Amino acid sequence: MDRSQSSKDFTEARSCIPGGVNSPVRAFANVNATPVFYDHAKGSHVWDVDGNEYIDFIGSWGPMILGHCPDVVETAVRAQLDRGMSYGAPCEAEITMAEEICRLVPAAEKARMVSSGTEATMSAIRLARGYTHRDKFIKFEGNYHGHSDALLVAAGSGVATFGIPGTPGVTAGAVADTIVLPYNDLDAVRAAFEECPDNIAAIIVEPIAGNMGCVPPAKGFLQGLRDTCTEFGALLIFDEVISGFRAALGGAQERYGITPDLCTFGKIIGGGFPVGCFAGRADIMDALAPDGPVYQAGTLSGNPVAMEAGLAQLRELEKPGFYDELEKKGAYWEEGMRRAIERAGVTAQLNRVGSLATIFFTDCPVTCWDDAATCDTEAFAAYFGGMLDRGFLIAPSQFECLFLSAAHTYEEIDAFCAAVEESLRDSSAN
Ligand SMILES: *Cc1c(COP(=O)(O)O)cnc(C)c1O
Repeated sequence: MDRSQSSKDFTEARSCIPGGVNSPVRAFANVNATPVFYDHAKGSHVWDVDGNEYIDFIGSWGPMILGHCPDVVETAVRAQLDRGMSYGAPCEAEITMAEEICRLVPAAEKARMVSSGTEATMSAIRLARGYTHRDKFIKFEGNYHGHSDALLVAAGSGVATFGIPGTPGVTAGAVADTIVLPYNDLDAVRAAFEECPDNIAAIIVEPIAGNMGCVPPAKGFLQGLRDTCTEFGALLIFDEVISGFRAALGGAQERYGITPDLCTFGKIIGGGFPVGCFAGRADIMDALAPDGPVYQAGTLSGNPVAMEAGLAQLRELEKPGFYDELEKKGAYWEEGMRRAIERAGVTAQLNRVGSLATIFFTDCPVTCWDDAATCDTEAFAAYFGGMLDRGFLIAPSQFECLFLSAAHTYEEIDAFCAAVEESLRDSSAN
């Protein structure tokens, strides 16, 4: 497959953009490959600047649950463009969006929009601290909550892939109140609270981990977090930036039946535009400025184009049977991948929740970061190259999810699984 124009673009990009990319994982550095420069995308397909066509299992890292550029979203965006692009003032689409979120998400009584997942989690942590008058919070190893300072420790994929321990530029002071614990380890959570019963403001958790590869919560883990927070007067924050409107219409909190105090969204609710949101109990959300003392703001927050795009996407997701069909497709996909792994005769683990999945190149079941870290990333890189050359885009890191969308057909899933089998066979032969 000729990707010479992508190579040229990457060289040019490197001269004016650090590393040639605006987000590190895009550089393909750890899979020994040159990034693909996209030209256009529609449905489950992407075309690069060399004219190559791919079936895409990245989906912009989650937002494109309907596939790229769905007609309904495109129409809504075009209609809004006739009425303006950014107001920096209240508009009715913001109310509709907040009402939608509060109707669909169990924990949401009030919602505030921001422009990225990073802002959503950063603001939720500030709010939790301001509301509880406590300083510390718990996060889990391998969970990623965006790149704000206090959250950028043991943060999964991007950080892990690049082997940066935390990262230079984040001061010891900035993370002094961040307690990092192993995912799926309730005993560790219990011990942290017993050591510090009065000063932990919150637990923030990916209810389905998606940034160390796909790692589901162990049975009882989320319930245990809920009970512990309630007992010690801390807030439970579900970071549903990936799982929101993907694991179910009401997110992982609906899928597992555990209601957090606050939750964060991004990716899918923007319909492909830059959006984030944090939501939760009204008494907590009311602590935000202007009614309350906790400051938080944003010039582009509630941007009307992004609101219309997100709303158009959400309305599709609300149609009866959407998640049942996606789950059915996900199960079919899983079965195909299991067969591919078995036939290729390689040792690998497959985790799947709904439309998220990861093939881990290790012999140990992956339930936390220490398990994920046992993966053979060289074998992953070889497999990645095989998939790319067969016309399939997957995340260029062992520690990311495959994203299935409603636009993928069963035939495309079959083709994907056949490519997985061949790529696994090639990678293990090397
Ligand atoms: C992507 C992601 C974020 C950060 O969102 P951005 O929009 O990239 O800032 C936060 N939390 C989780 C779970 C994510 O997957």
